[in-house]
Amino acid sequence: MTSPSERSRVHRNPRRAEYAPDIVNGILDANRICHVAYVDGGEPRIIPTLYMRRGEYVYLHGNRQSALLRHLAAGGVAALSVVSVEGIVVARSGFHCSMNYHSVVLFGHGEPVPEADHERVLEQFVEALIPGHVKQVRPATSQELAATLAVRIPVHEASAKIRTGDPIDDPDDLQADVWAGVIPLLTTLGSPVPSGDLKAGIHVPDYVRACKVLP
Ligand SMILES: Cc1cc2nc3c(=O)[nH]c(=O)nc-3n(C[C@H](O)[C@H](O)[C@H](O)COP(=O)(O)OP(=O)(O)OC[C@H]3O[C@@H](n4cnc5c(N)ncnc54)[C@H](O)[C@@H]3O)c2cc1C
Repeated sequence: MTSPSERSRVHRNPRRAEYAPDIVNGILDANRICHVAYVDGGEPRIIPTLYMRRGEYVYLHGNRQSALLRHLAAGGVAALSVVSVEGIVVARSGFHCSMNYHSVVLFGHGEPVPEADHERVLEQFVEALIPGHVKQVRPATSQELAATLAVRIPVHEASAKIRTGDPIDDPDDLQADVWAGVIPLLTTLGSPVPSGDLKAGIHVPDYVRACKVLP
C-alpha cells in the first residue's frame, strides 16, 4: 500500500481511503473539473477549473493573467480536489443520510509547463474534452499561445476517498417504517445543439455525436 503524507492521511472514516496511484489516477481521469485552493497574502482562495492528468502530473491552463495560474507557475503550493457523486444515500435516520462518491485531494507545488510542450499540452486539453476536434480546428495563433498559461502539479501527494453502497443504519433503526436505499445520480450528455451562427450545410460530425466525456 502507498503511504500517505501526514496532511494527506484521511482521519474520518479511514476505511474509505485509498492512496494507490492507480485508484487516484482512475478518479482523476474519470473527471474534468477540479477546485484548486491556495493562499494569497494570507487569505484563502479557491477556483473551479478544467484539468487533465497526463503521467505524473495534473495540468491546468487558462489566461496568462490568472492569479491562480501565476501563483502555480511561480512554484506556489495548492490543494486540489475532484469529486464525482454517484448517488444520494437515504438512511432511516437523518444522521446516516449520505452520498456515494469518488473523491481525490492532492497537494503540491506548481510549475510552468516547459515551453517545448506548451502547444501540445493546449491541444491535449481540447482533445481531452472533445476527442477528435483538434484535427478539425485551425492551429492556435502565436497570440493565442502567448495569451495562455499552462501549469502542472505533480500527483505525488494524493488521497482518494470512496463511498459506495447502502445506507449504514443503526441496528435499532432497521425495523423502522422508513424507506431507505440509494437514489442513483446520473450525469449524461444530451444531443448536440448547433451554434446559432453555424454555417449552413455543416452536419454534426461523428466525433461530436460520439463524445462521451463528462465534465
Ligand atoms: C460529495 C461528498 C459529500 C460529503 N459530505 C460530507 C458532509 O456533509 N459532512 C462531512 O463531515 N463530510 C462529508 N464528506 C466527507 C468530507 O470530504 C471529509 O472527508 C470529511 O468531512 C472529513 O473531514 P476532515 O476535515 O475531518 O478531514 P480529515 O479526514 O482530517 O482529512 C485529512 C486529509 O485527508 C484527505 N481527505 C479528506 N477528505 C477527503 C476526501 N473526501 N477525498 C479525498 N481525500 C480526503 C485530505 O488530504 C485531508 O487533508 C463528503 C465528501 C464528498 C465527496
